Amino acid sequence: MSAKIIDGKAVSKKIREEIREEVEKLKSVGVHPGLAVVLAGDNPASRVYVKNKGEACRSAGIHSEEHKLPADVKESELIDIINRLNKDPRINGILVQLPLPLHINKELVLKSISPDKDVDGFHEINMGRLFIGQEGLIPCTPFGIIKLLEYYNIPVEGKFAVVVGRSNIVGKPVAMMLLHRNATVAICHTRTKNLKEVCLMGDILIAAAGRQGMITGDMVKEGAVVIDVGINRMDNGKLTGDVDFESAVKKAGWITPVPGGVGPMTIAMLLYNTLKAAKMGHHNG
Ligand code: NAD
Repeated sequence: MSAKIIDGKAVSKKIREEIREEVEKLKSVGVHPGLAVVLAGDNPASRVYVKNKGEACRSAGIHSEEHKLPADVKESELIDIINRLNKDPRINGILVQLPLPLHINKELVLKSISPDKDVDGFHEINMGRLFIGQEGLIPCTPFGIIKLLEYYNIPVEGKFAVVVGRSNIVGKPVAMMLLHRNATVAICHTRTKNLKEVCLMGDILIAAAGRQGMITGDMVKEGAVVIDVGINRMDNGKLTGDVDFESAVKKAGWITPVPGGVGPMTIAMLLYNTLKAAKMGHHNG
């Protein structure tokens, strides 16, 4: 058996096209969605992410602006900029690119973003809303995973889902979203004993550990849906996931490749959240 491929590149393209059309319509009634990205320091990977986010916005017709700050920026200056953006009517979404320089308190910075403009969904209010099942802005990567499952009509209700990784940005929120969709969910982490046995129970297996190739075919249940969130750079510079694709593809029913799986969905959902925030702001305003 060889798994069917979940093509995140194609799905994200379609979503981005739909967003572009909706942005067009909004503009025709005078609403211009806008995203501000704040980058502190000169982490090369962050610079690439910020550039890609700006380009994605522009191709969707969304106003985009970048606020680049030096690595030694004061925490108070960063928060002042966020406060200004919170009040700026042209800006519907604010994203602070992580990681932040070490002298800056990440929690404090994320908390200073207005929850209504928090397009990354990392604010404690949006996290809280997600956990109690209330409407809010949802972190882009977990949201993208759920959209992929929906796009391919992959059933979640009653399934046993195993999430490997318990970070606040991927593992925990995706586990909660699967739970709200009536899956039975296990969350695994570095202290999990018998990881292989737990993974083998997964009708849906989500790998979000950041450990290259750690999920091998012998850890995959026959016919399982395998979602690889991991992005690991190999010695040759190429990207690879947390799943050993070669062996897992033989056991899985569905599988996401890396690259071209979850990654492109993350940026599509950022645009989606910006559009959603613009619509919310319009109704509130
Ligand atoms: P993280 O380092 O914050 O969390 C990793 C989690 O995995 C931790 O909870 C840890 O307990 C668990 N873990 C690590 N090693 C393990 C092991 N051997 N066995 C069991 N559990 C283990 O990472 P993160 O921010 O959640 O990201 C996870 C991966 O997803 C990374 O590779 C990251 O680059 C990638 N990522 C991809 C996207 C995307 O758009 N595709 C977005 C965010 C993160």
